[in-house]
Amino acid sequence: MNIGFIGVGRMGQRMSSRILDAGYSLTIHDLKKEAAVPLLEKGAKWGNTPGEVAESCRVVFSSLPSPQSVEEVVYGENGLRTGWKDGDIYVDMSTNSPSTIRKIAEDAGIKGVTVLDAPVSGGTQGAETGTLTIMVGGDPAATKKIQGILRTMGKKIFPVGDAGCGNVAKLVNNLISLGCNSISAEGFVLGVKGGIHPQVLWEIISASTGNNWCMQQYPNTTFKGNFEPGFSVGLAYKDIGLVLDLGKEYNVPLPVGLAVQKDLHDTMMAGYADKGVDAVILPLEEATGVTVRSPE
Ligand code: NAD
Repeated sequence: MNIGFIGVGRMGQRMSSRILDAGYSLTIHDLKKEAAVPLLEKGAKWGNTPGEVAESCRVVFSSLPSPQSVEEVVYGENGLRTGWKDGDIYVDMSTNSPSTIRKIAEDAGIKGVTVLDAPVSGGTQGAETGTLTIMVGGDPAATKKIQGILRTMGKKIFPVGDAGCGNVAKLVNNLISLGCNSISAEGFVLGVKGGIHPQVLWEIISASTGNNWCMQQYPNTTFKGNFEPGFSVGLAYKDIGLVLDLGKEYNVPLPVGLAVQKDLHDTMMAGYADKGVDAVILPLEEATGVTVRSPE
């Protein structure tokens, strides 16, 4: 089966590489052709536009940075919809707005195309090793059809309801995860300022009720002063914006989410938008004169 993949950035490149390794024929497209070079060298074909990819593939995936970029890929001149055929499946794996997905699903349905949203968790490491968690919203029969392809990218695949529900689950995950990210940064700066060695504090919290996934990354990131993305501050800011929009849509107040948004905004304003999300600690370190480092 010829599979399409649009958006081969940090996540998409690793995810589509696994599809290729599993023996599927793959056609890719990205705004930046240089992002595609490693995959083209491994045997992927290049599609000049999303529409060209859709014409030659029955199943097309995307991993894109924002709802706007997904809309551009679908509706733009030479977008996916110019190449869609009855019976095609489009799977957006970006972290996206549920309402954007629902609108695309409705429009695509008129052409007989099924849209699934299948956002992922597990970061670039999970993408590399094919161990992502994948949350799939949309038609169960279409989900079943593409199960084998999803299994090349993820080990835990959760059908989660109608199109859009994949992203509701993903945004809830990111609200919780980004909250842990911000609060861990605050806690470690406070603890180190109070005289505790970062490694000792990490061992204590790892064995206590404050333990969380974000803090577990510290030995490879914050402690080494390694703030290369991974998951960038800019993308995290996009996600928390989508979370707050969802809160407004369903009339659910999210005061902690608002604080996380301010934290990420301050981090971007300090010049760290392209750093990994652990970089929220940097403005706080600079303001307090503390550095949370433990390189060993
Ligand atoms: P990225 O910025 O590294 O990659 C995005 C790619 O999309 C880039 O190569 C870019 O050139 C391409 N692109 C942008 N607009 C395009 C367009 N109109 N047409 C074609 N290509 C276009 O981002 P990423 O880190 O790979 O993240 C992708 C998605 O996955 C985002 O929605 C993000 O929130 C989500 N996500 C990321 C992580 C992570 O750890 N990086 C984890 C989980 C989910």
